[in-house]
Amino acid sequence: MLRHMNLGEADRLLTIYTREHGKLRQIAKGVRRPQSKKAGHLDLFARVSILAARGRELDVITQADALDSYPGLRSDLDLVGRAAYAIELVDQFTVDGEANAELYALLIQTLDRLSAGIHRQSVQRHFELRLLDQVGYRPELFRCSRCAVEIRPQDQFFSFEAGGALCPKCGPDETQKRPVSLAALKVLRHYQRSTFDHAAQASIRPAVHNELDRLMEGFFNYLLERRLNSPGFIRRLRQIGRREPSGDANFDFEEKE
Ligand SMILES: [Zn+2]
Repeated sequence: MLRHMNLGEADRLLTIYTREHGKLRQIAKGVRRPQSKKAGHLDLFARVSILAARGRELDVITQADALDSYPGLRSDLDLVGRAAYAIELVDQFTVDGEANAELYALLIQTLDRLSAGIHRQSVQRHFELRLLDQVGYRPELFRCSRCAVEIRPQDQFFSFEAGGALCPKCGPDETQKRPVSLAALKVLRHYQRSTFDHAAQASIRPAVHNELDRLMEGFFNYLLERRLNSPGFIRRLRQIGRREPSGDANFDFEEKE
């Protein structure tokens, strides 16, 4: 489930993401009553098997059975933030009723991995790069997105508008761009062309992940023409210092071929 909104006295309007029909909005009647049988199954994030009846305007959920409620996500606020981020991005990049089985599988995989609690930064990076592939914004990271010259091993720029790396010559003229360090660019390339298991083996400095957190947030905000809510939520959590963001390791990143 992606999000919900209270409706009337006891109902809820749910936005769910499904394998067969993409994003849908359905009504869960009476779900806010304490004795509701469906209530326990319709938590945010949960993967649920749903039966629905066609309603006049919106379908009405008649039965709901939780398949996975991701218990690992419940007790760790940092993981909650990352799961909320994945869900917000899927919600924002999809339109109602358009199925995308691969994106569905990516979201489920991501929630599974986050719930397991390991390699959380890697899970997020992998999700971001695959999501961009799925929604048609795969960034160009090997050639300059303006002049097509091969990107050399040095600090570069990243253009939101051109959707990829910019060489140091084209970078300064671009308005919607950010500087990107060589280390961060290498990480993006590594995740773009690696399976998750392979990508997660790389040791990446927390500073590089922090740089990429900001770069990706800027890119998504640009693509969606709005500010995402979840990155601010994650930042506030870190400021509160409830938990240390877990860097996967403290070594310099080395690209593995
Ligand atoms: Zn260029």
